[in-house]
Amino acid sequence: MTQFVDVTSMSRWIQREGVEKIIGTMVEYLERDFSRWEKFDKIPRVASHTPFGVIELMPTSDGEEYSFKYVNGHPFNPARGFQTVTAFGVLADVDNGYPTFLAEMTLLTALRTAATSAMVGRKLARQDSKVMAMIGAGSQAEFQALGFRAVLGIETLRVFDIDPKAVEKLRRNLEPLGFEITVAASVDEAVEGADIITTCTADKAQNTILSDAQVKPGVHLNAVGGDCPGKTELEAGILRRADVFVEFPPQTRIEGEIQQVEADFEVTEFWKVLTGKAEGRTSDEQITLFDSVGFAIADFSALRCLRDWTKDTDLQAYIELVADPEDPKDLYSLVNALKPVG
Ligand code: NAD
Repeated sequence: MTQFVDVTSMSRWIQREGVEKIIGTMVEYLERDFSRWEKFDKIPRVASHTPFGVIELMPTSDGEEYSFKYVNGHPFNPARGFQTVTAFGVLADVDNGYPTFLAEMTLLTALRTAATSAMVGRKLARQDSKVMAMIGAGSQAEFQALGFRAVLGIETLRVFDIDPKAVEKLRRNLEPLGFEITVAASVDEAVEGADIITTCTADKAQNTILSDAQVKPGVHLNAVGGDCPGKTELEAGILRRADVFVEFPPQTRIEGEIQQVEADFEVTEFWKVLTGKAEGRTSDEQITLFDSVGFAIADFSALRCLRDWTKDTDLQAYIELVADPEDPKDLYSLVNALKPVG
């Protein structure tokens, strides 16, 4: 039988434990897996593009367990009543190849994306950071804010979105949790005095959400929304002034902000910072940029965190996902078993 966590159980888990506690633990899972980066199978995710959006498969394995995530990205979806991003994922045992764990991953992706941003932000942002600008107040936004509060104590947000209703929703969700939120009338107003800038917009276009002139020395940029060919948020000049940190270069060069620059543009793989093989922030004036696209190893970590945490609780069900006849050569016995008698 395969363990299973559905959307209702995921929501109950988050409600019961709290986003910040989950993100704190997920960061530990991520750091453990990023620290053994070289052990994993790694390929850029497999993407199927259409004019509507993209559907992607994200596989990886550490030689003991295998995982994949199915995820879509459809920026025009909210206008039609659907979400931009939805996902589900699987863990499997490499020993016999059977899937062991299946889970909804729309909520889990928001948690893992925020946990990844938080893990990177904790290493790269100035430790005295107090204010975060957020450009884009959609589905990921609350999770991003809570992730940064969990690791850096950020409680002051300056928010801009072209959709005032999205900003209002963010206020409604976050102010009761103790955040101090300033609604900005423009990107300029949002980034004024910000120590960290999170860009998390959705559009199937090469946009300039943030221009070079808007980025001051010492800022940490958490660029989350540019994650597909032809879909970026930053003016290219920013990349040349900043030190750029990425998950897996072969995927980020296709999908990230760095798709705008030459193929051998210098970047640092974040796992190397974590393991002391590369430098992170080296001065208070340095601009650090996390060119986040989302990588399979983070989903592997998130799935294992969820699986381990909810094991033997009412949040996990068991489903009959794998046909497993008593005689492994007699698959047909499962058909016969349902034959009417007499
Ligand atoms: P969403 O559609 O719920 O929210 C996006 C928000 O961006 C909307 O409120 C929209 O009004 C706003 N927006 C669009 N253009 C804008 C502009 N020019 N200026 C300001 N605001 C603008 O999407 P979401 O689920 O929050 O995801 C946001 C982005 O993050 C998407 O592009 C998604 O693909 C990406 N994403 C990345 C990762 C990762 O790991 N890097 C993970 C999940 C999602």
